[in-house]
Parts: sequence; structure tokens; C-alpha cells
Amino acid sequence: MKHSNFDVVVVGGGHAGCDAAHAAARAGARTALVTLKFDGIGVMSCNPAIGGLGKGHLVREIDALDGVMSRVADAAGIQFRLLNRRKGPAVQGPRAQADRAVYRATMQKEMTSFPGLEVIEGEVTDFRMDGNRVAGIVLADGSEISAGAVVLTTGTFLRGLIHIGDHSYSGGRMGDNAANLLGQRMDGFGLPLGRLKTGTPPRLDGKTIDWNILDSQPGDEDPVFFSFQTKGLEIRQVSCGITHTNAATHEIIRNNLERSAMYGGYIEGVGPRYCPSIEDKVVRFADKDSHQVFLEPEGLNDDTVYPNGISTSLPQDVQEAYVRSIRGLEEVKILQPGYAIEYDYVDPRALDSRLGLRDVPGLFLAGQINGTTGYEEAAAQGLVAGLNAAKEALGADPVTFSRTDSYIGVMVDDLITRGVSEPYRMFTSRAEYRLSLRADNADQRLTGKGIEAGLVGEVRKAAFGDKMERLTRGKSLLEDTKVTPKVLNSNGIKVGEDGKQRSLYQVLAFADVEIQHLVDIAPELAELDAETQAQLKKDALYATYLSRQEQDAAALRKDEARVIPNSFDYSGLESLSNELKMKLQRVRPANLAQAGRIEGMTPAALALILARLNREN
Ligand code: FAD
Repeated sequence: MKHSNFDVVVVGGGHAGCDAAHAAARAGARTALVTLKFDGIGVMSCNPAIGGLGKGHLVREIDALDGVMSRVADAAGIQFRLLNRRKGPAVQGPRAQADRAVYRATMQKEMTSFPGLEVIEGEVTDFRMDGNRVAGIVLADGSEISAGAVVLTTGTFLRGLIHIGDHSYSGGRMGDNAANLLGQRMDGFGLPLGRLKTGTPPRLDGKTIDWNILDSQPGDEDPVFFSFQTKGLEIRQVSCGITHTNAATHEIIRNNLERSAMYGGYIEGVGPRYCPSIEDKVVRFADKDSHQVFLEPEGLNDDTVYPNGISTSLPQDVQEAYVRSIRGLEEVKILQPGYAIEYDYVDPRALDSRLGLRDVPGLFLAGQINGTTGYEEAAAQGLVAGLNAAKEALGADPVTFSRTDSYIGVMVDDLITRGVSEPYRMFTSRAEYRLSLRADNADQRLTGKGIEAGLVGEVRKAAFGDKMERLTRGKSLLEDTKVTPKVLNSNGIKVGEDGKQRSLYQVLAFADVEIQHLVDIAPELAELDAETQAQLKKDALYATYLSRQEQDAAALRKDEARVIPNSFDYSGLESLSNELKMKLQRVRPANLAQAGRIEGMTPAALALILARLNREN
């Protein structure tokens, strides 16, 4: 029997697994990425796109911490669009269509070229245990790998069940076996498990689409990349087609609803409300007689097209009928039917803020297994779990993220304190501090933290140091020059005609003012490069709002600093309702701030906990 030894083992080569394994290796751990098939590394199970609102923020944060998803998405990008471009930078989200094959190949290269990271093919079926501690994994062929910590990122594979109409069969996603043995093994830990589901549309043969009669949507002329290090486009760019469902499409769907896996009662798992299937849309928005469908090419050398907006679990014959009722798709050939998949997830309230299981030391979870949906959510969790698995294995302090520093912190906190009732996806509205948690300043917020955590390589460290030096110089130039503006510049932009003295940084906060308007007053500003000028404008725009937000964030950080020990006995707080006692006992918040966010928590209950903490300290 083969036996090897690593600091960290990551199970699963999906989006969570890749960023987990890379983060663990960057943090200095000897890491094995164990996955079913080498070729499955970096596979996008559903749409060929990365980013979007909220999700794009996560990818920027992954990049700020020197993660991989951002660079790989830039390398594979065939169409870049900054969503909400006309709105303020706080709610803008970078998004890119990706060439699936390039994404996969680039990710595979990342996983095989980083020192200290080894890829092993195999099915994990069991864990090596040291008492109640996970101390490695066992593969289907009987070989074993010992490790200081294990990260499980098995996506939709745990007891995965694929549904097409009334036909269902075991599978991790189309073309892959489910992880049934590992699913059964997980039962042995007594964790709170549930079932969720998600769906995907049929894939179309682009050669059979009548593109000439359809509108098309090109990418942005000045693409915004995910990585702070990407300097230009890496491959050819393409447009997407746009078409719409119509009354005939909806009628076909309505007439066959009982044959849909979801509406026919074949699925028990809960699906993502924000990513509804076409059946869902037709039922829930019955007054709408048309829905937009984006026809997204899956690659430069691939005719497959992903019709975004019509995911389904209807039988194949119905899929064919409704797809062909759509303009431009009258003669279309379906290459792979749409389907829904149901799978096990672990209630994430069983996790701590490192994404380690509180009751199973040595085992970390990341990605879809924690009840989330989406590549970006998975990769961001992977980074947190991989980093902390490395810290645990190497005997170093954990590194956690706060709602005040990142969307990553928002997501982890939401998951571990509130749990999920449907697949969780990121939105900008989930963040209280979105004016400071912007995609454009992810590096300013997180790269310093990443450097301290040992996550950031030399090239990025040097580039970041240089960028911060330029920003600091520009900011002090602006702050040191005070003016009492009447009519400020030759463009006739009027600001602050109230006789109040302002720094140029405050003047720059006015919507119509750009740095070039201030050059007459402070000529050295002209020496700043365009990137620094643009960033200073964004930073200045939000600076006035930030001081207020900073006070709230400081109060939250203070509550976060009031640590509640894992052993805290809530049953001893007599005035606490039984319901709250049960909730607190289940979530076991790590600090007072987390306790405050538990559903139903009251100020009086928090005061009780605080009083007990003060007494015990
Ligand atoms: P995955 O990408 O699923 O990766 C899991 C990895 O674990 C795989 O590499 C697998 O080989 C490996 N693995 C599993 N079990 C074992 C084992 N026992 N031993 C070794 N390796 C193992 N997201 C959206 O945002 N919107 C959608 O509409 C959407 N629709 C989807 C529809 C379908 C049909 C599917 C399958 C997924 C969909 N997703 C959607 C989800 C998206 O694919 C996931 O969120 C994302 O891939 C999760 O990443 P992950 O790393 O957690 O898991």
C-alpha cells in the first residue's frame, strides 16, 4: 500500500480546490491536490464566465491576495465587461466570458508549476484519523496520504444526483461519477447535512444558430481586468448574441411543467433563487411574455454556445421544442441537454471563521459543499481554507477576514453565523461597508494583509510597494495644497463657492473634477501616471463618506475583538430565552459581533453575554 506525507491535502480540483491548494503552497505548506481526474482541474461546470456584481469583487480580492482565479480568468478572457459602468465604482463589477479550454489549460499549468504543490489523481473515499482528528486521506485504490490538515472541496459531487425530466441517475456533474463513498463517510462525522440543487441549460451548436438575424453585444473597448498585474488582452475577443424567449416558448414550457424534474416533484433540494431555471421564470413571472437569452460562445476554437438564461430540468424532447421556438434558434442542434443536479452540503454554521469544522479538527471545507453557488464564491473560500489549513499544519496563527476589510469576510461571516436556506451567492448589497470595499481598491485593502500572511510572491510585493508609494505621494500633494475655490478651472466646473477652504483632495471629491483640472494649481500633479491619477480620483470620491463608515467599522472591530470562548456555557445565562440559547449553542459565535448577527438576537441578550465575559476575564 502506497503511503505519502504532506502538510496539507486539498481534495477536489474545482474552483475552491485550485485556490485552496495554491494558497496553502504559497503559505509554505507542502501541498497535495488530490482530484478525480487531472483533466477535470479548472472545469467550469456551468457558464463560461467569471465575475459580475459582487462576484467580481471577490475575484479582485483573490487577486489582491495573489490567488490564481483572477490571472487565469484574464488569460482566458474572450470578452470583458465592467457591469454598472455608469454607476459609482463601489457597485461596478468586472466580468469576463472565458474560453473554457484556455481556462482549464491555464489553471492546470498553474497547479503543476508552483513549487511545493503536487497534483495526484484519485478518488478520496475515507480519512485517516488520529483520535477525533483528521490526519490525512485514503484513496479508492487503498493508498493513503497523511497530512497536518485536509481541505474538502468536492463541489456538487457528494451523493450527486442528475435529473433530466423524470430520468435521474447518480453523477457529480455530466460525464463525472458522484462521490458516493465519501458522501457516506461524511455521515460518520455526525455533521448537519442538507440537500441543495442547481441547474444548467442545454449546450447549442453555434454552427446551427442564425447569427445574422440576432443582435450582438461586444465587450468593452477599454477592458477592466481581474488581476492588478494584467496589462493587456491575451487572446482574441468575441461578441455574444442576444435573443429572447417568446409566448410560444412559454406555452411549451407551461404545457410540460409536470415533466420537469423540479415541478414533477423528483427533486427535494432547494435551488438558487437568483439563478432561476426557465421553468421557474415562466411560473414566477407569469405576466412576462419574454426573457432575454445571451448566446455566449464557449471558446475561440469551439462552436459550442452557452444560452445564458434558460437553465432547465425538462426532458430532452421538451428542451428541443422550446429552444427551437426562440428566434435565431429555429434549426439549432443541442449538443448536450440541460440538467439539474442535487447534492449534499454541510450546514456552514458548523464551521469557524477559518472554514475549519469546529467538531472535526484538521478538516476544512470550501466551495459548493458549504452551501454556496458560483465559481468565485468557491475560489474565495478555497483561499481562506487553504491558507488556514497551511497555518494549522505549520503550527502558525490563523488568518481571518472581517466584514470591514473584504467581501471574503462578509461571505465567511454570513455563512458561519446565518447558514443558508438556498445556495448562497454574493451581492454587493450583502456588504455594509461597500463604499470602502470596492473592486478598484481590493489591493489597498488586502495585499498588505496577504504579505503579512506569507501569501504574496515577490513580483506582486514589489509592484504593490511601488503603486502605494505613487499613491501616497499623489495623495500628499493633493492634501497639502489648500484652496478656497470659486470657479475652479478653465472648463468652467464650479465647486465649493461657499468660501470654505478645502484641500485639493477634497476638491477632487466633487463629481466633475479630475486631476487634470487641478494641474494649474499644483503643477507636480501632471507628473503622476494615468493609473495613479484615476485611482486617486476614486479614493477621493469616497473619502468624505468613509470617515462615517470608518466609525461604524471601528465599533464592529471592537465587538469582533471581544472573543467568546468555544466553551462558553450559554445554558448558564438564565434570563436568555431557550430559543436564543439553542441558536447560540449551535452557531457558537467566535466573538460578540458574530453573536449580534444571529437571527433574533436582542441588545439585552448581548448585554448578558458581555457581562458574563467581563466577569470571567
Ligand atoms: P466543483 O467545481 O464542482 O469541483 C469539485 C471537484 O472535486 C472536482 O474537480 C471533482 O473531480 C472533485 N472531487 C469530487 N469528489 C471527489 C473525491 N471523492 N475525490 C477526489 N476528487 C473529488 N453556479 C452558479 O453560480 N450559477 C449556476 O447557475 C450554476 N449552475 C450549475 C449547474 C450545474 C449542473 C453544476 C454542476 C454546477 C452549477 N454551478 C452554478 C455551480 C458551480 O459549478 C460551482 O459553484 C463551482 O464549480 C463550485 O466549485 P467547487 O470548487 O466547490 O466545486
